[in-house]
Amino acid sequence: MTATDTPRRRVAVLPDHLANKIAAGEVIQRPDSVVKELVENALDAGATSLQVVIREGGKDYIQVTDDGVGMDEQDAVLSFLRHATSKIATYDELEAITTYGFRGEALASIAAVAQVTMKTRRQEDDMAVVIKVAGEARPVVTRDAHARGTTVIAQNLFFNVPARRKFLKSTNTEFRHIFDVIQRTAIAHPELAIEFISDGEAVFRLKPAGMEDRLIEVFGQRAVEAMIPVQETTDFLGVTGYIGKPQFGQRSRSGQYLFLNKRFIVSRNVSHAIHTAYEHLLTKGSFPFFLLFLEIDPHRIDVNVHPSKMEAKFDDEQGVHRFIAALARKALGAAGAVPALSAYGDVESPDVGFRFTPRQHAWGPGDAGGRSAWDLPGREEVNPVTGEITSRTGTAGMSQSEILFGPAASVDAVRPQVTATPLAAADEGASLLLWQLHDRYIFSQIRNGVMIVDQHVAHERILYERALEMFEKGMRSSQQLLFPCTIDLSPGDFALFEELLPHIAALGFDAKPFGKHTVLVEGVPVDVKPGHEQGILQEILEQYKEYQHHAPTEVRDNMAKAYACRSAIKAGDPLTEKEMRSLIDQLFATSMPYVCPHGRPVVLRISTDELDRRFGRK
Ligand code: ADP
Ligand code: MG
Repeated sequence: MTATDTPRRRVAVLPDHLANKIAAGEVIQRPDSVVKELVENALDAGATSLQVVIREGGKDYIQVTDDGVGMDEQDAVLSFLRHATSKIATYDELEAITTYGFRGEALASIAAVAQVTMKTRRQEDDMAVVIKVAGEARPVVTRDAHARGTTVIAQNLFFNVPARRKFLKSTNTEFRHIFDVIQRTAIAHPELAIEFISDGEAVFRLKPAGMEDRLIEVFGQRAVEAMIPVQETTDFLGVTGYIGKPQFGQRSRSGQYLFLNKRFIVSRNVSHAIHTAYEHLLTKGSFPFFLLFLEIDPHRIDVNVHPSKMEAKFDDEQGVHRFIAALARKALGAAGAVPALSAYGDVESPDVGFRFTPRQHAWGPGDAGGRSAWDLPGREEVNPVTGEITSRTGTAGMSQSEILFGPAASVDAVRPQVTATPLAAADEGASLLLWQLHDRYIFSQIRNGVMIVDQHVAHERILYERALEMFEKGMRSSQQLLFPCTIDLSPGDFALFEELLPHIAALGFDAKPFGKHTVLVEGVPVDVKPGHEQGILQEILEQYKEYQHHAPTEVRDNMAKAYACRSAIKAGDPLTEKEMRSLIDQLFATSMPYVCPHGRPVVLRISTDELDRRFGRK
């Protein structure tokens, strides 16, 4: 066949409906793209409250309502034309984009492949404009009542593109993708009220909140406690957010959230940088959790490299890599994650000696796989796949010690007494054998093996929770010093002392300024070890400064941690059996006995099965 056989066609500009259908293929891949575009339009319109309603995973029905600026009739009609945008007019503006949208393609694309209804009203108009568009049909404009703002409804996605409609996944899968979009929006915009309803059920109902409260709503309290805050700014890059403590490694990349100027993106470069910081801290096949907000001068990035703007290019990829890796490393170091290294070494490598992988010291019965931030025992958790918030089956209703040592029936005889009154337990607890190894670890036989407690971090956990309680409930317990002492502080420390005085007092210190940079201490918390009354306050201030550097806003938490760290018994302190018993009892009366405030493990368990395996009995 030669070229002349083909009848030559004239070059023609595609009719709009066809061009839109083709463009739609790029912008609208599945229901979640529709949601994403409509939500971004709402944000661009200055919404403070957002409602998303879907049916059948968005395949049949998607409705997004905002309370933003709305449009008049002319704009509303224009908004459906391809390349119709109010957001940029010149190339310079494209170079410094600060809105989510700018290509003017979304509404045109959605209307090309779905039946769309838009209702929109500006503050100053009485009635809303209603526009119905579907495929090639001419838009129909009417009027109706509507609150200020805009509602866009997209029905029967790909009704006119059967090939694509066929490729839509199950309702569940499409729901999950939409859930991700809403979740990311919720994270990036804590100030935004969000309601998300799927098939008549509320998935999210979020009030405007601060970042941390929003994260607790989205991920749950326990997951947030497993996050280490990070913050660092340079001339060209600002980073804030959280990285996960190593023991809460994820089984997939789904716990990795990166926002570039509040836009969710995927960056291999940044993921890789974070990974390098966790080297040797995570087992093979697990991924670190991170949630980072990058702020970069819009001139220095290109968000226009991907149709749905999910990837971005930095003009200094290597610089970003170095910066992020260093930041993560520093945060992990400061959080005390690094010393826990040996507990997470690879058990197969020849040089590591006696180490455990998380699988071998899995806490929960039947908890065979690696743990993730969502696997915290006995608490509600967010299923990263379905987004469902559930109470963990199997461990719900179990006490912490049951989770740790197995069901009560099988461990009753030797389980440590879990009671808030240490002495009572000590009297009757003769069946619980305890011994101290190198003045550092407490060993105890349990029904199915042996439990090892790190005495310092165990005490830290106890004191940390006690400090938080004192802050909250104001029940300080103080011991008066026979010989009040004075400490001389540097001017900086003295200023810090004055700033923190309410917290210091709440902990049980009777301390007050005494001369220019001098503090008079007349009483200390009862938990302070005899002989440490003199230096303890200064040590706490030192420690506080270090924590404050990494989490500047967490005053109470830093204070509680500093107090716990400095007042706790040390590795190297010999303990009597009674003291060990009391420590264990108090530990298991805390809300979180197995992780210290910095995220280090407090308790390890080696099962007899594991020992049998290692001695070749099995
Ligand atoms: P883009 O967001 O890239 O500008 P869209 O097709 O998403 O393109 O929207 C076209 C235009 O319609 C926007 O620039 C904006 O002016 C207007 N618009 C779309 N959605 C809304 C909304 N929810 N509220 C107010 N204006 C909107
Ligand atoms: Mg848009």
